[in-house]
Amino acid sequence: MPPHFRDREISLFRRALLSWYRSNKRPLPWRETADPYAIWLSEVMLQQTTVETVIPYYKRFLAKFPNLESVIKGQEAELLRLWSGLGYYSRIRNFSKAAKLVGTRFGGKIPAEKETLKTLPGIGEYTASAIASIAFHKPEAVVDGNVMRVVSRLFAYRKDIATTTAKIFFRSKTTQLLDPDAPGDFNQAMMELGATICTPTSPRCPLCAVAPWCIAREKGIAEKLPTKTKKMEMETRFYTCFLITRQGKILLRTRKHEPVLRGLWELPLVPREKSPGHGIKPVTHTIMNQRMKIYPAENGKYAPSKLKGKTRWVPWDRLAKIPLTTVTRKVLQATGHPISRFDTKEEFKL
Ligand code: SF4
Repeated sequence: MPPHFRDREISLFRRALLSWYRSNKRPLPWRETADPYAIWLSEVMLQQTTVETVIPYYKRFLAKFPNLESVIKGQEAELLRLWSGLGYYSRIRNFSKAAKLVGTRFGGKIPAEKETLKTLPGIGEYTASAIASIAFHKPEAVVDGNVMRVVSRLFAYRKDIATTTAKIFFRSKTTQLLDPDAPGDFNQAMMELGATICTPTSPRCPLCAVAPWCIAREKGIAEKLPTKTKKMEMETRFYTCFLITRQGKILLRTRKHEPVLRGLWELPLVPREKSPGHGIKPVTHTIMNQRMKIYPAENGKYAPSKLKGKTRWVPWDRLAKIPLTTVTRKVLQATGHPISRFDTKEEFKL
């Protein structure tokens, strides 16, 4: 430990961080519950998705599936429909599988131990530590992107954060700093600090509760950290998305052999060589390192027989009741056909 973190300093650091967090935390709905099921759900939704996007989905999902049992009994189509638009659909499939396993293996009681949680589908090191600490007060430190940034600055750690050495470093430092008396709040406080004060660019050091312990601030190098040497290369792909309509209905298809999109319905989407030219604005969608540029073709003349997968003509007013892909939602929105994302009424059977 650097001099900043000797003995008594650790407890002062914890106290300063927790006191800042308790007075300044954002009032997020999953912070108002102690229910392990709701905390688990929020952690799954927050993987790769922003807090602002998650809030309405979280509320809507909990209104329909208020507990583990309701998910165990729930239909996959309905679970997907409520997830529709959040993306990364393997999350909800794994959540549903894991819920069933909790039912059969653990008698419906969500495990409290990190290592046991990690045996469930969709729960890795981060999510297991978050559930164990926040829902069950277990002394497990979480390490996410926000925490790595805060820790790399506190200790002026200059090695590439993608390396194994760095991962070991972050794990060891967060474990040493973690407050064993309030692990859930401590973890959330570190993440909150990273999200609101110790931001990637322009960290707000004068407002930071842990500034006295921060070596990067002292050296004036906070903005240079953390070190990331490998940048993700983005690949752009072009698509045409067909809005084919007939007598108040629109053509949708599903690709049941496509593992990621299985169970979801979409407007027919086909790859194209390049952009149709300047002046035509595409709908954009990014998945990992792939940027999709999608050009809607309204009343496109595309023979449904050439499309892969199963197709259906669906009345416009039923669209909100169907689990649609995020791309389809975006294209409908961009072409002046926004659909209600928050329709919790009954499902429409296709
Ligand atoms: Fe981040 Fe600045 Fe706080 Fe250090 S003092 S933890 S760089 S906000």
